[in-house]
Order: sequence, then C-alpha cells, then structure tokens
Amino acid sequence: MTAATHLVWLRNDLRIADNPALAAAADGEARVVACFVLDEHSPGLRPLGGASRWWLHHSLTRLAEALDRRGIALVLRRGAATDVVPALARALGATRVDWSRRYGGAEIAVDKAVKARLRQDGIEAASHNGALLYEPWTVKTKTGEFFKVFTPFARSARAGGEPAAPPPALVPRPIAGRPTVAIETDSLDDWRLLPRAPDWAGGLRATWQPGEDGAIARLAAFLDAGLRGYADGRDRPDQGFTSRLSPHLAFGEISPRTVWHAAAARLDGLGGEPVPARDVEKFHSELMWREFSHHLLYHRPDLATVNFQPRFDHFPWNGDPAALARWQAGQTGYPIVDAGMRQLWQTGYMHNRVRMIVGSLLVKHLLIDWRAGERWFWDTLVDADAANNAAGWQWIAGSGADAAPYFRVFNPILQGEKFDPDGAYVARYVPELARLPASVIQKPWTASPQTLHAAGVRLGESYPRPVVDHDKGRARALAAFAALQDA
Ligand SMILES: Cc1cc2nc3c(=O)[nH]c(=O)nc-3n(C[C@H](O)[C@H](O)[C@H](O)COP(=O)(O)OP(=O)(O)OC[C@H]3O[C@@H](n4cnc5c(N)ncnc54)[C@H](O)[C@@H]3O)c2cc1C
Repeated sequence: MTAATHLVWLRNDLRIADNPALAAAADGEARVVACFVLDEHSPGLRPLGGASRWWLHHSLTRLAEALDRRGIALVLRRGAATDVVPALARALGATRVDWSRRYGGAEIAVDKAVKARLRQDGIEAASHNGALLYEPWTVKTKTGEFFKVFTPFARSARAGGEPAAPPPALVPRPIAGRPTVAIETDSLDDWRLLPRAPDWAGGLRATWQPGEDGAIARLAAFLDAGLRGYADGRDRPDQGFTSRLSPHLAFGEISPRTVWHAAAARLDGLGGEPVPARDVEKFHSELMWREFSHHLLYHRPDLATVNFQPRFDHFPWNGDPAALARWQAGQTGYPIVDAGMRQLWQTGYMHNRVRMIVGSLLVKHLLIDWRAGERWFWDTLVDADAANNAAGWQWIAGSGADAAPYFRVFNPILQGEKFDPDGAYVARYVPELARLPASVIQKPWTASPQTLHAAGVRLGESYPRPVVDHDKGRARALAAFAALQDA
C-alpha cells in the first residue's frame, strides 16, 4: 500500500520546532510535502515591504535546507493561494493540508476560501495556532466583547492559564520519505525578493541571521546577556538589553511560547544564572503587547488604515512632503530622531523607545498623518508586522485603543538625554555629531561656535537645524489635539 501524502502550507511559521501544523502533517505514516506561496494576487493582502522581502528570501533558504535534512521538500509557488494550494494538493494526491492560522482580515478570507475548496475536493484541511499565546476569540470581557485596554486584556488572558509549554521534541522525521511524483517548484531567485541595483541590504546582512537557527541563537544570547536587567535596561537604545527577536517572531522562526517559557525558566536558574522576577515579568508583558496587538487586529481588520477612534477621522493632518522626506532620511535636526531613522534604514530595525520618539515627532510636532509613518515602517522594518506596527502607530497618534493621551508629546531632547545619556547611540548612527560632548549632542544648536568647530559640525551644512522648533511644534500639536477633544 502506498503511503498517503500530507501537505503543510507554511506562511508566518517558518520553523520546524514547535510548529503545530508541521507536527500534525508529519504525525503518522504519511509523506510530508511543505509549500510556501508568494501570494501577490489575492484581494486585500498587503504586499511585503522591501526589508521583509529580504528577510523572507533568507528565511526560506534556511527553511528549505532544514526541511530537506528531514526528508521534506519545500515547494515554492507564486500566485493566488486559493488556486495554488488546492491545485498543488490535488497534484500531490494529498489527503490533508495543515497550516497555522493568521489573524488579518484578508488573510482569514483567503484561508477560508482555501479550506472550502479543499473540502470540495474531499481533502481534509486543518488550521492550528502557531503564532499566538492566546488566540483573539479566547479572551473576552465579562460582556463578551473584545478588550480595548491592555492591562485588563493581559490579566484576563493570563487568568485563563499561563501559555502552554512547547512540546519537547522536534517534529519527527517522516518515515515514508519523499513523494514519488515529481513536484515543480519555483526558483527563489526568480521571485526577486533581494534588492539589486542598488543593493541596499549590506547593513541588514551585517546585523541579522534570518532563519530558525538565527532565532534560537538570538534567544540564547538574550537570555545570557539581556534578560537580567531588562526591566530597566529595555528603554536604553545605547545598550543591548532587548531581545531583537521581533523579526524572528514576525516570520514565525521561533514560537512565542518557546520564548515565553525560555525566559520563565531563568527564574529558577534553569540553563544559567537565576534572573530577578521583575525582569522576566517585564519581558512577558512585552510579549503580551504583541498578543494585544493581534487581538486588536483580529477585531479591527482595518487597523493599519482606519482610526480606531473615529473622531480622529476629521483631524487636520498636515501633508508636508518635505518634512516627511526629512524625517524618512534622518535629517530632522533632532539627533535622537535622526539616529533612529538611520538605524532603521541601515539595519531594518529601530529600538522601541526610539520608535516612540520618532513617531511622536512625526504625528505631533509635524502633524503628519500616522499612516505615512506606518507605511514607511512597513517598507523598511525587518520586523514589519501587520498587528504590532498598526497598533504602535495608532498608540503614538492617540487614535488607537488604549493609546497615549493626546497631550503626551515626547520631547526629543529630554528623551535623548534621558535614554542616551552619553550620546553613544547618536554617535553611532549620526557620525557627523560623534565628536560633540554629551552635554550638547542631543541639542547641537545650543552648542557654542567653538564647540561646534572643535567637533567639526557646521550647523545647516554638515547637520541640519531642527525641522521645527520644539516649543512651537509642541504648542501647535497641543492646540490641534485639544480641538479634537472638544469637537
Ligand atoms: C510606532 C511603532 C511601530 C512598531 N512596529 C512594530 C512592528 O512592525 N513589528 C513589531 O514586531 N513591533 C513593532 N513595534 C513594537 C516594538 O517596538 C518592537 O516589537 C520591539 O522594538 C522589537 O524589539 P525587541 O524584539 O528587541 O523587543 P523586546 O523588548 O525584546 O520584546 C520582545 C518581543 O515582544 C514584542 N513586543 C515588544 N514591544 C512591543 C510592543 N510595544 N507592541 C507589540 N509587541 C511588542 C515583540 O514581538 C518583541 O520581539 C512598534 C512600536 C511602535 C511604537
């Protein structure tokens, strides 16, 4: 008797360990084939940004190698998933297809359509939770609604039980071996995910190791060198306390429960020195923000484009393209902002504290629509995530659920002085200011001509003057946002 074939459709779960869809497909005697579909055709699916495309190329390369070592072929196909997945399943003679659930509206619509087509063809289809600690419909208020405020959301989710522990073993090697039918696969190079002419990815290559092995190494490095002291150190962009697991989590190269439990184990000193509870709790709390963002996206599928609070629909945003361009290029004249925007451009990542500072400057001081910032981040972040990015921007703008209050306007000078006190972060990403003393590096326009000269800084030439005066920008923002409150 020939063995059955199971197809696992991989998407944002590009890993082998703790991958419930892959484990389900590989359970039993069946042959397993994996596929990834580059779907730029289904309505409503947002095309990946440039940095994500770079990451995806490398992640798929590593995944194909890892699957191959376990006797599983990774088939690459481009097209509308609603056509491609059922057609592939039929061609393979697959009896079932497994995948990990996604939580965006368009993605859910695609997955439902695929499921319906497979079932029409008599093929079993099963979806699994491979991305979240708590799926959005499992956490509800007492009146059965979804949570709009983080703290009660997190409390309620965790009251239902701590996240399940990941299974100890890797997915078993399928014993039935490779399918006997020849399977056509696209060549990854033909997808042209990598930038050419120009190749702007040098900084990304120098910074990241996409793929499951890179994720596991990153987690280990964080547990050894970041978690202890995380609660206080996580706000310091000049130091290395945060995990930088975000792109690995966004592509599903590591499961959130693996990360959660690895951190929890350090409480007892398992695998290393014991870590204070407040550090582990703070880290868990950040993972819960990721959960909350997905909760919001599931219940508000238009989170990236529509104000969560409708009164913001009438906000008089200022569409100043020159100011937006200066912000994107890291030329605002506020060193901490410019350091963040250049870190983003060079490495595809920005420290969370600095995301808040640059976001606040854009939407408050410059009164530019948060959606312009969201789109720029979407294109340039290696961790661009439909839920976290949209929720983060709406939080900054004040238009979101549980958002920053409208009168909270980050002061980019004080923020720089507080969180980058020696100016090391600025010096790294804005090298033309590196020789300024710490006392003025966050506000070079206050330095004496002698100090500027000694540091080789020519204001307005080698480094710009502020795009907007802080006090004036703040006052203008407060007036505009206060008018909205009264409306
Ligand atoms: C305007 C804005 C846009 C953002 N866009 C994204 C995005 O596209 N993708 C993304 O993953 N995060 C986004 N964030 C959240 C946060 O900045 C990043 O998750 C974090 O900086 C990633 O670095 P890390 O892995 O070292 O974080 P750590 O401090 O080590 O946190 C661990 C993990 O928790 C999650 N997390 C941490 N902070 C948040 C948060 N505020 N909201 C949701 N999840 C969080 C991430 O998955 C992160 O990897 C955004 C924040 C803001 C203010």
